[in-house]
Amino acid sequence: MKKTLLALALGFLLFPAVAQTKAKKAIFIIVDGIPADVVDSVPTPNIDQIAKVGGFTTAVMGGDVGTYSQTPTISAVGYNSMLTGVWANKHNVWGNGIEDPNYQYWTIFRAFKEANPGKKTAIFSTWLDNRTKLLGDKLPQTGHFSPDYYFDGFELDTVNFPPQKDRSHFHLIDETVSKEAARYIHEKAPDLSWMYLEYSDDMGHTYGNSPQMIDGLKKADIQIGRVWEAIQYREKNFDEDWLIVITTDHGRTADGFGHGGHSERERTIWIATNGKNLNSHFEDSPEMVDIFPSVAHHLGLEIPKSQAMELDGASFIGPIDAVDLKAELTDGNFKLTWKSYSTGQTGRVWITATNHFKSRGLDNYSLMGEVKLEEGSATFSTKGMESDFYKVVLETPAGYLNYWIVND
Ligand SMILES: [Zn+2]
Repeated sequence: MKKTLLALALGFLLFPAVAQTKAKKAIFIIVDGIPADVVDSVPTPNIDQIAKVGGFTTAVMGGDVGTYSQTPTISAVGYNSMLTGVWANKHNVWGNGIEDPNYQYWTIFRAFKEANPGKKTAIFSTWLDNRTKLLGDKLPQTGHFSPDYYFDGFELDTVNFPPQKDRSHFHLIDETVSKEAARYIHEKAPDLSWMYLEYSDDMGHTYGNSPQMIDGLKKADIQIGRVWEAIQYREKNFDEDWLIVITTDHGRTADGFGHGGHSERERTIWIATNGKNLNSHFEDSPEMVDIFPSVAHHLGLEIPKSQAMELDGASFIGPIDAVDLKAELTDGNFKLTWKSYSTGQTGRVWITATNHFKSRGLDNYSLMGEVKLEEGSATFSTKGMESDFYKVVLETPAGYLNYWIVND
């Protein structure tokens, strides 16, 4: 009797502790250049199954049109907006040449590794530059960040993957990459990883809107299915809680051949995820830059304040108080507006006229005052702060939103 009571007591004590130790893991997948209307209309049983657990939504790539954050709907620009959680005016990748990334805006990989040196990262990719240039593998500018495991570069291996006119060798590379991603996750379960698949974009560029583009998506769906199966295996057999986020880097022009501009079809991307606790922002107006804070939330990754104040996105998982901060100067005042999801919370407004962050410095923010988030707007005097440039930050219980005021 005594034994039973003790066991019961221990059971009560131990159960919550055990539940909390479930290891958080995340992977994001980019399927290149698949418009939202295509993924919507083509059968994709694996993506559908994942979305059934969490959700599916259309989203935006490309920053605010006509403002400082307008960002081309170009592949590497899209990947880096996802990786860094900021638009091109900050991360400074404007094209696939990736000439001069500003590594001061850390990728989520680097942020994760700096906070958790013992945890493991991996990349499985049909494009070498994703690791060497965007993640900045072993570069002094990234603090010599290096993924613990990588599987990439096969597009340069013309012996095993001889280039074909119909680009079918890229399908073979995607096959190789996705099989290895599934194998590696099944066996090693890296804490944070990224799989990148390219073939679908080649079909768009070569054939436009076409049966080939549809086939490219169906092939990617099968490849995603392999990874999903590995994740399900891990969750069944290990104490692990996995987040998978699937997206595309941009939409396409009306004919399906091109991208890079800001037509609605080029800017409209999509996100499928198994994520639980998806908030209202997920359905309403998510953007490419929201993936960083969402994955960070799942992983329990605390972003240092100076970096969090620069992130252009907001988490679509967990609590959310406000999104879409905008700010402008009118009649000697800062006029702020935002979209509120708040029920009674207050926020704090910070403004600085400097941008030392981009060159590794610190900005000295002035606390302008407190605001009721539900009101969705606030006004503060610019007195004593005259400048041509401001960074405006709204601090909420769930995180930070920021917006720049740029006077030419
Ligand atoms: Zn692309």
